[in-house]
Amino acid sequence: MKSGRAGAVAHLKLLGLDLVFGGAMSLQYDPDQPVDPDTWLKFDESERIEAVKQYHRRANVRLPNERLHAVTHVIVENQLALGEACPVESVLFRLMEEGLDRHDAIHAIGFVLAERLFAGLTEKSQPADLNAEYFEKLNRLTAASWKEHGR
Ligand SMILES: [Zn+2]
Repeated sequence: MKSGRAGAVAHLKLLGLDLVFGGAMSLQYDPDQPVDPDTWLKFDESERIEAVKQYHRRANVRLPNERLHAVTHVIVENQLALGEACPVESVLFRLMEEGLDRHDAIHAIGFVLAERLFAGLTEKSQPADLNAEYFEKLNRLTAASWKEHGR
C-alpha cells in the first residue's frame, strides 16, 4: 500500500493541495515538542529523516551536514520511542531539568551517539560494550558539560 500513499501524495502535490493535506499525509516533526512514539514509528526511516530535515529548513538552522544531523536526530528519537525500556529517555528528561530545551538535549545525546558510532567503526569492541559505554557516557553528560562543549 506504500506506493498507493506515495501516489496520493504526488497527486496532491500536482493539485497544490499537499500543503492543505500535508499534516495528514506526512510526518510533522518539532524537536521541541514531545514526539508520540506510535506516530513516529508508523513512518519509515526515510520519512523520519525527511521530517527532521524539513523542520531544520523551516527553522533556518544552517547545518554543515544536513543528512548526518537528521540521521542523528532520528536515531535518538528512535531510542526515545522505546520509552522506559531505553535509558536515553531519562537522560533527556534530566538534561531538560538541567536547563536544555528538548532540541538542544537531542543534540547533546546525538553528539555522544555519533562519537560512539565512530568509535564502533574504528575499535574492535563488541556491540554490547559499545552500548554500555554509550549509556555510561550519557550518564556523565550534563547540560553544563554540553554548553561548555558548544563554546
Ligand atoms: Zn537539530
